[in-house]
Amino acid sequence: MAGGGAGESETWAQHRREMLGAILAREDTPCPACGYNLRGVRGESCVECGSALRVGVVTDSARSGPWLVAIIACSMAIGFDAVASLLMLIPIAVSLFVAGGPPIQAFAMLGLLLMLGVLSAALLVAILRRKRLYHGPAVRAQWWAAAVLTAAIFIGHLVGGLLIVLVIA
Ligand SMILES: [Zn+2]
Repeated sequence: MAGGGAGESETWAQHRREMLGAILAREDTPCPACGYNLRGVRGESCVECGSALRVGVVTDSARSGPWLVAIIACSMAIGFDAVASLLMLIPIAVSLFVAGGPPIQAFAMLGLLLMLGVLSAALLVAILRRKRLYHGPAVRAQWWAAAVLTAAIFIGHLVGGLLIVLVIA
């Protein structure tokens, strides 16, 4: 309907207010900001914290918990590998000047650390870029994915650490 845009959006805003009221009248609904139970609250703001309220579409699939665990696991691995690599560089640099070059084992250890770091970084990039893929399955599957990823990173570094110890020994 031409020219009726303003009136129509006004009606729609009114309709959304009514939907909000209908939901709060019937359901226990925690305030997204402060958690106060909004059941029975009238109006468009939380009576506890004053946050503005509106109705919207939500999904249980977009849970941030498992997503964050996966990101933190990768980030911690990258940080660990970066610090360990930097620490490795010090004795390598020293032996370059003092002992006429570091032993080949030092480069093997550094290479292993860098490889683990690059793998962890690739995992992180994949998780960040494939957000839709990660959030697609049920939340339970997302937690499993996060747990398996964390375990894989941990075991990968454990095996890498054991290899380093064996090389030194
Ligand atoms: Zn609130």
